[in-house]
Amino acid sequence: METKMWTVDKNVDNLKTYPQIIEAARKLRSNEVVAFPTETVYGLGGNAKSDDAVLKIFEAKGRPGDNPLIVHISDREQVHSFIKAVPEKAKSLMDAFWPGPLTIILEQKSGALSEKATAGLQTVAVRMPDHPVALALIEASGLPLAAPSANLSGKPSPTTAAHVADDLTGRIAGIVDGGATGVGVESTVIDCTAEVPVILRPGGVTREQLEEVIGEVSVDPALKDADQAPKAPGMKYRHYAPNAPFYLVNGTSAQIQQLVQEKRNEGLKVGVMTTLENKDFYDANVVIACGERSKLETVAGALYDTLRAFNREDLDIIYGEVFPEHGVGQAVMNRLSKASGLPIIDK
Ligand code: AMP
Ligand code: MG
Repeated sequence: METKMWTVDKNVDNLKTYPQIIEAARKLRSNEVVAFPTETVYGLGGNAKSDDAVLKIFEAKGRPGDNPLIVHISDREQVHSFIKAVPEKAKSLMDAFWPGPLTIILEQKSGALSEKATAGLQTVAVRMPDHPVALALIEASGLPLAAPSANLSGKPSPTTAAHVADDLTGRIAGIVDGGATGVGVESTVIDCTAEVPVILRPGGVTREQLEEVIGEVSVDPALKDADQAPKAPGMKYRHYAPNAPFYLVNGTSAQIQQLVQEKRNEGLKVGVMTTLENKDFYDANVVIACGERSKLETVAGALYDTLRAFNREDLDIIYGEVFPEHGVGQAVMNRLSKASGLPIIDK
């Protein structure tokens, strides 16, 4: 399949009237799938009402069919066509964080969406992205768009159109290139079907921010306890995996360098994932800085590009620094642990 690349300037007015957006929207209306930028990562969109379109999303990504998709909208009114009722707390969250990196799980009206999009569940995940290209495309298509991240399943999520092209060229109808995304990690997923809402996936909106708006929220215990089944089906899968074993180390730079040296003495090629502050400290085969430790949002923004960069190197082992688990650090550590899939080395 030919994969079209449409380049748009996200800063122009009235994007939805641009020929690139109109052409991409036309593909979506004929149940083709198209990648587009959001403020978190690039999404792979398809008509959420069509089994045919949704199957194409799962097929292009190689995504397991039991992992439901987030439905993206451009206008709050759209929720009423497929959500039973919006509880007060969910309303407050929409007021405070939409458009933005918050996905809300609510009870769905049966029959309104493709059952494949919601993996047969009674609930549906919905979000309004805060990106002019995403909003223009959803509006121009006139559809709710089911859109997971636009990467091959298991790979790091894409934060540029080039990342999408690396994974999905030949597998999808097109890519709308609107530049690099901003937040860099996916949306926070919060289940609002319970009296006390539950965070199922940490992301761009922090627990602290959510609690400021609606009071107590809980966190799915499975996020910390590998023996429990996560409430978001997707959280059970390993993600973002680099090609070499990737160990997170809770220790000083000197302690990490010692581990590096031991492996190099064995003749292994060693990588280190650090931040700008510590980059010059390490002596390894490949050292990559992922943002600045003092500004955790820059670490989130650079995370997936850094993981992809490691995959272009030929390494035997990679060591990574850990980050404090407050604010967006929660999402960063969640994604790093998934990328590693190994116990943290505690020094
Ligand atoms: P992605 O689209 O790849 O960013 O992933 C969306 C995440 O939301 C996955 O972890 C899904 O399993 C989760 N999710 C989507 N819909 C639901 C739902 N109705 N209930 C629980 N989790 C959901
Ligand atoms: Mg994903």
